[in-house]
Amino acid sequence: MRQASLWTTSDNQTVLCQLCSHFCHIDPGGRGRCGVRINRDGTLFTLADTVAAIHSDPVEKKPLFHFLPGTKTMSFAAMGCNFACSWCQNAPLSQLPRQGSSPQGQCIRPEKIVQMALSEGCDSISYTYSEPTIFFELMEDTAKLAHEAGLKNIMVSNGFQSPQCLHRLGPLMDAANIDLKAFAEDTYEQHCEARLKPVLQNLKRIKAFGWWLEVTTLVIPDLNDSPEELGDIAHFIAESLGVETPWHVSRFHPDYQMSDRGPTPTSRIEQAVEIGKNAGLQFVYAGNIAGHMSESTFCPNCGEMLIERRGYTLGKHIPGAVCPGCGAAVAGVFA
Ligand code: SF4
Repeated sequence: MRQASLWTTSDNQTVLCQLCSHFCHIDPGGRGRCGVRINRDGTLFTLADTVAAIHSDPVEKKPLFHFLPGTKTMSFAAMGCNFACSWCQNAPLSQLPRQGSSPQGQCIRPEKIVQMALSEGCDSISYTYSEPTIFFELMEDTAKLAHEAGLKNIMVSNGFQSPQCLHRLGPLMDAANIDLKAFAEDTYEQHCEARLKPVLQNLKRIKAFGWWLEVTTLVIPDLNDSPEELGDIAHFIAESLGVETPWHVSRFHPDYQMSDRGPTPTSRIEQAVEIGKNAGLQFVYAGNIAGHMSESTFCPNCGEMLIERRGYTLGKHIPGAVCPGCGAAVAGVFA
């Protein structure tokens, strides 16, 4: 446990946590909605300062398809999340603190994480698996050291940070994949206990920071898979983030509390890919369907295959950010 960042005293010993857009008021002895920030006698502490999972992953697994493709990224998480998604695929890691358990993990200091990344030949460190916002202090300390060591930083997030939190992260991150789970406030409120509007605002802020940005939507049958809603998401990305922003439309599999429906039909994912392209997006990727053609990258100008993917394995791929077929520039960070 360590003293937390980004909070203020609101009333007597009650504190206002300013880390995410829930802005919890926490009474003495209480915890915030994420379950990892606790008020002890008027001071806010974080319990999310130990590492619950750490692996070297392909950067494609984040997923990031246009950021240093083919490289490895040291990926880690502390336990906890500020969302309560009923379909969560990482519930043992993310949801237990919300239910009252204290986060479990190993004490691995930022210096050691950076050393592990370098010794494994990683080009970056990823803050991922659970929700990195809730382990902000560990992320910030690690990200600073990572930059000093010449490593890039990647955040994989639900995009629900407070503006103050994003401001602190602005100079530290190089790339992000942000979930845009739906385009309906009702879905965010009923299924995630969160809100859509701050996520949309943060996506625009992140784009303005100049981080490389990719967006993921898990397409869930009878929840967010209508052509109208998928079209709304695609048009938001095209118009507010830019047509060069990759959109990953991923296949749902029943998990956690959402066992009342089957996996997303492949045809629905293919329809989502078409909807994205019709909205003008240059790069729309089918996710969770290994071997699908829409996992690969094609030049939006001439159609040449630029990066061939099968799951996390790359086949043919271009060495730089220029299409060898027509000479068009390809959006992304390639070296
Ligand atoms: S991080 Fe978010 S959910 Fe957790 S205490 Fe702070 S404002 Fe609340």
